[in-house]
Amino acid sequence: MSKRLLIFGPPAAGKGTHAKRLAGELRIPHIATGDMLRKAIDEGTQFGRHADSFIRRGELVPDELVMALLQERLAKPDALQGFLLDGFPRTISQARALDARMGEQDEAIDAVLALEAPIEVLVKRISGRQICAGCGAVFNRFFRPAKLAGRCDDCDGALTQRSDDGEAAVRQRLEQYRAVTTPVLAFFQAAQWPVHAIDSVGDVDEVYGRLRRAVVD
Ligand code: ADP
Repeated sequence: MSKRLLIFGPPAAGKGTHAKRLAGELRIPHIATGDMLRKAIDEGTQFGRHADSFIRRGELVPDELVMALLQERLAKPDALQGFLLDGFPRTISQARALDARMGEQDEAIDAVLALEAPIEVLVKRISGRQICAGCGAVFNRFFRPAKLAGRCDDCDGALTQRSDDGEAAVRQRLEQYRAVTTPVLAFFQAAQWPVHAIDSVGDVDEVYGRLRRAVVD
C-alpha cells in the first residue's frame, strides 16, 4: 500500500479535508505546509511574522523558508515510514529539493493525488469558507452551512474567515497556482511519480472514495 503520498491541487480543491481523513486511515502523518505556516503566525515567531506578510497578499512564501520548515518536519521519527504532504511542493524548486531528499534516503513518492475543479467552484468554496476559531472545523456558507449562523456546530466557537480568503488575495492565489504551481505536475511526471487525476467536484464522501481507490484499494 502506498505510504509516501502527495496531495496536489488549486486552493480550495479540498486538499486539507481529504488529506486529514486519508492520513488518519493510513496512519501516516498529515504534513500541511499551510497549517504549519499558520501555526507559526499564531505563535508570533519572527519566522511567522515574515511568512504572514506573503500569505495575506496571497503570495507564495519564499522557498527557503518553506523548505527549512519541511526538512525539519520530515526528519521527525513519525515521518520515517510514510507521510501525506499537503500543499507542498508548490514550485519547481521545492519539487527538486524533495526529489533530492528522496534520492538521498533511497525512497520514492508512491503517488501524487492531483485534485481538479473548475475555477467557479473554487471561488465559491473559498468565498463561503468559515473556520472555527475554537476547534478548526471548516464550514461553508453555500455548501455546508453551520446550524447556527456564525457558530461552530461541534464546539460553539466563533466562525472566522482566513486572512487570505478575501477577494484580492484569492485572485492572487489562483493566479500563483496557474503560473507557478501547475508546472510542477510536469516535474512529477518527468520524475516518474505516479500521478492520479481526481475529480474533486461532488459530495465530500464521493470525492474521498475516488482518492481512496487510487491508493488504498
Ligand atoms: P490553499 O491551498 O487553500 O491556498 P494552504 O493552507 O495550503 O491553502 O496555503 C495557504 C498559504 O500558505 C498559501 O497561499 C501560501 O502563501 C502559503 N504556503 C503554503 N504552502 C506553501 C509552499 N509549499 N510554498 C510557498 N508558500 C506556501
